[in-house]
Amino acid sequence: MSNMTRDFFIGLSNNQLLNSQAKKWGFVLGADKFVAGTTIPSVMETVKNLNAKGISCTLDNLGEFVASRAEAEQAKDKIITLLETIHQENVACHLSVKLTQLGLDIDQDFCMANVREILAKAKEYAIFVNIDMEDYVHYEATMAALKTLHKDYDNVGTVVQSYLLQAGDDLSDLKGIRVRIVKGAYKESADVAYQEQAAIDRNFIKLAEERLLEGTFTSIGTHDHHIINELKTFIQEQGIPNDQFEFQMLYGFRNDLQQKLANEGYHFCTYIPFGDDWFGYFMRRLAERPQNVNIILKDALYT
Ligand code: FAD
Repeated sequence: MSNMTRDFFIGLSNNQLLNSQAKKWGFVLGADKFVAGTTIPSVMETVKNLNAKGISCTLDNLGEFVASRAEAEQAKDKIITLLETIHQENVACHLSVKLTQLGLDIDQDFCMANVREILAKAKEYAIFVNIDMEDYVHYEATMAALKTLHKDYDNVGTVVQSYLLQAGDDLSDLKGIRVRIVKGAYKESADVAYQEQAAIDRNFIKLAEERLLEGTFTSIGTHDHHIINELKTFIQEQGIPNDQFEFQMLYGFRNDLQQKLANEGYHFCTYIPFGDDWFGYFMRRLAERPQNVNIILKDALYT
């Protein structure tokens, strides 16, 4: 995808007016291909269907540009209800949360109190909670929060983005903490992030291999079959046990490959976003791949 097109969709993802308007539209533009419903009962159906196929899940209650304490508390309450539902329904499922949704931009102490409440409930039910990594503006605060929280809660982990120049150093600091490795979804400057795809991919493989050898549980979050195949070979050659890692992909992407990896005996986890605040997430997915735009355009023309 050209940088201009990518920047266009990333620009849309950051447009607060469109994000808030889209909540009223319901799913349009084919967003339902990548977002699994708006309610907890509807997303639970998706989780159960995937579990039946040998795939575990991580749920993301979508929410962007949270600017008031009331919104952050509402998000926290919904996430706690989600934890209770996962526990009651006894599904193979954990959570992915974003600190900005829980008040990071409002007041860090308030945000930490919200996350602690979530982690305490999740720990009671033995559910893992992953803190997603957002844009670089929030990077240092997110890493600091993670390290503080992990002292009290061993059921929390985070994400390392291979486009970041500092990813290798930061990953070494996270020994013993569960991590998902991804390429990175935001537009970052050359001061902090690799700009060339080849460098981002090389760094992804390097980080994943280091972690697989180090031994802490690692999620390999990518749809890139080149990377997956290279890591599968590495895993075999090094005799890395299957229970030390999983592959992860986003809901609606490469369903055949998701099922194939699960059938091959790898732990596989689908990341499932849900909720009415879908616009920013959806625009970031369109920014990643021209084919995603093509799929949407085809659907719009033929339905
Ligand atoms: P790409 O670089 O998009 O694609 C590489 C190659 O893979 C393509 O050229 C093509 O050959 C093949 N390919 C990719 N997709 C397809 C497809 N649909 N069909 C056929 N071939 C395909 N980012 C963050 O910044 N923070 C997060 O917390 C975060 N969490 C994530 C969680 C998960 C589970 C995943 C999968 C991604 C997450 N991301 C996150 C997004 C991530 O950073 C990337 O932006 C996104 O995954 C696109 O990169 P990619 O590795 O999938 O492959």
